[in-house]
Amino acid sequence: MASHVAASAFGHCLAMTRDEEVATRLAVVAVRTGGRTLGVVLGHARHQALAAVAAEQPPPAALRPGAGPADVAWALAATRPPLELALVDLSGRHGLGRAGLGIALRMTPSAAAERVAAVARSWDAELDPALLASLGPGDCEGMAGVLAGRPMAGADDLLAVAGDVADHTTGCPACADRQRAMASVRQLLAGTPLPEPPWQVAVAASGSRLQPPVPPPALQPGGRGRGLRRLGVTIVVVALGGAAALVTVAGGDDGGREKSLMALTRLPSDTGSLQLVPAEVPPAAGQVALTNRSGAAVAWEATGDAPWLEVTPPSGQLEPGAEQVLVLRGSPPEGDVLASVRVTGDDGSAAMTAVAGTVEHPPDLGATADGCRVTADVEDEGDVVLTLHWRVNGTEATGSMSAPVDAKSTATMPPALAPVTWWVSAVDGRGNQARTPDVVVATPC
Ligand SMILES: [Zn+2]
Repeated sequence: MASHVAASAFGHCLAMTRDEEVATRLAVVAVRTGGRTLGVVLGHARHQALAAVAAEQPPPAALRPGAGPADVAWALAATRPPLELALVDLSGRHGLGRAGLGIALRMTPSAAAERVAAVARSWDAELDPALLASLGPGDCEGMAGVLAGRPMAGADDLLAVAGDVADHTTGCPACADRQRAMASVRQLLAGTPLPEPPWQVAVAASGSRLQPPVPPPALQPGGRGRGLRRLGVTIVVVALGGAAALVTVAGGDDGGREKSLMALTRLPSDTGSLQLVPAEVPPAAGQVALTNRSGAAVAWEATGDAPWLEVTPPSGQLEPGAEQVLVLRGSPPEGDVLASVRVTGDDGSAAMTAVAGTVEHPPDLGATADGCRVTADVEDEGDVVLTLHWRVNGTEATGSMSAPVDAKSTATMPPALAPVTWWVSAVDGRGNQARTPDVVVATPC
């Protein structure tokens, strides 16, 4: 499993960056952060690779003379926006189920599937005729006329003729048959085997298997449409003349949490020149204000003490009385979250804000039926209990589903029931629930 995760992370990063050294570096980060869950690791690989290609454009994918259809497909794919390539690669080449794809893209499974389907339609319409052009006219004189005298050396040449090829194919049954028989650009990409991962990636993957996975960042801010719930806890931090801060936790909470909050807020007090407001923020993306209350300029540095917590900007200089907004980003793991942002100044002052609350991730769930046999796809950060429900003539019944293997779980409905309505529910160890939409089957399965 670890080796498949390593090969997938490296393969995706290599497809995106086309640079083995860069892909190795990014894949190591992805497997270290993502743990052992394929969808989570690929989500981090996707995030790393998209950031890398946004910062530095990958080299163009050149076409060697005599290149095979798969080489042509990859060269054509490289002309598309990196996000499209990421979606096609993630959906086609790594054996992610619907739920796994949702996790990798940090969307609901259905939103992820819709997004991939939209890209697939445009690739089939715009790239497949270019691929057909690369295969030559075949026996069609009309196509020979379309391609005559057109350069075919690179992906751009093929795309330049693709519109004319598509027009011809629409009116030519022979060429339409050829295109239908031909593997599409997406199928050729999906059929490209994953490369052997470099040892650095394999070692990082085997070392990270026991670590809890950190959810990948969203594709776009707010892209997941999934709320982060907070406990009803109010935390008041009072600075006492430079001494240790006093922390009061109001609400039904356990002593362990209070104790760790005490430890968290023991240092540093914010009676120096730097002040951070507010003293506590929830784990959802937020911001805090840093103020220089002294009469002299202060150079400062900010850090988050959790691996998922990113503070932007990480450093700067503040004139007397000036204020700087620090943006907090990150995808905290499920459960009680307790972290802090600390700012230190070159005048010896320091300030801190606690990042505290509870994060819940409901299971990502999808299901399909083949006859009476229902297969559920589920991804969650912990164990999940799955139940198959069905209803006939207003009477509901349930059956337990097998324990998930590779995120897949099955159960069978009794035959000869119709019309039957079925759905699957999932509950994780934290009580978070998910269920699939009702499916109505008119004829007995
Ligand atoms: Zn034709």
